[in-house]
Amino acid sequence: GAKALKRNTWQFFTPALGEASRERFAMDVGLRRALEHDELVLHYQPQAEVASGRLFGAEALVRWTTREGEVVGPGRFIALAEEAGLIHAIGRWVLGEACRQAREWELAGLPLRVAVNLSGLQVAQGDIVADVRAALHESGLSPSRLELEITEGFMIGHADEGLARLHDLHRLGVALSVDDFGTGYSSLAYLKRLPVQTLKVDRSFLDDVPGDPAGETLVAAIHSLAEKLELEVVAEGVERPEQLAFLQRLGCRYYQGELLGEPLAAEAFARRWTRASALLSAAGPSR
Ligand code: C2E
Ligand code: MG
Ligand code: MG
Ligand code: MG
Repeated sequence: GAKALKRNTWQFFTPALGEASRERFAMDVGLRRALEHDELVLHYQPQAEVASGRLFGAEALVRWTTREGEVVGPGRFIALAEEAGLIHAIGRWVLGEACRQAREWELAGLPLRVAVNLSGLQVAQGDIVADVRAALHESGLSPSRLELEITEGFMIGHADEGLARLHDLHRLGVALSVDDFGTGYSSLAYLKRLPVQTLKVDRSFLDDVPGDPAGETLVAAIHSLAEKLELEVVAEGVERPEQLAFLQRLGCRYYQGELLGEPLAAEAFARRWTRASALLSAAGPSR
């Protein structure tokens, strides 16, 4: 009867559940619209050599600029895009746009390697090899100017499907790196099997460095592990000059973070970095 219906209705629309699912629904609809109406934008964060300060690359970081002018960061929509099955379309757009931009900069005298973050689902379920090939082909960007970042967490549960695809990507000539290294829960054994060239040390390791002996030991240990496995290291989230000096003493090769430069929209990035890098990188990226 009406009473039962009312009770069920009330139960279904518990305020907390109602709000959460309404918000998800709005995000889902909004993300689909964002894709259709070009509301996604890439910001670029510079990466440089520790010793020389020479710029060699930029990481592409996606943002969603809503119709209302709000800038929504990836932390607020990537997980939802994965659940909604939208990550493949978003990922393809990011790859295409990052490659197009890198090629445009190369032709304009700003040769960089662009790093693109991959969601584990893109590698495990999508046709990532075809997507990367298409992005390179359509842009004319050389594979050596593209780096793909995967997280170590991805290796849990996706190891088998993923591994073959990573080898395919490696054969295409693109560079692969492990993002947020040291923060996942996977065993280090995967490092032997992955065709990666670079470890990106998560910024949490640098928080209390220099000064905190445990923190210093961990960063030094990661650096030495990488060296012995013949992998490059990029230290992420470098914010203070003392952190950079520590990395320099350690012999760490590359860094990225607000000390060097925050992520900027393409135009602002080019304005900020064209002159600086023309002096230093006429020969192109150093690796
Ligand atoms: P990530 O790949 O580890 O990217 C680094 C994040 O740290 C970025 O946040 C960047 O803005 C921030 N960051 C850079 N330097 C500093 C610093 O010195 N201090 C601090 N506190 N933070 C710094 P953002 O742009 O919000 O991205 C967050 C995460 O979202 C990324 O982490 C990445 O995992 C994911 N993401 C970003 N773009 C994409 C994308 O196109 N596709 C996918 N699948 N994931 C993406
Ligand atoms: Mg990254
Ligand atoms: Mg990272
Ligand atoms: Mg991160």
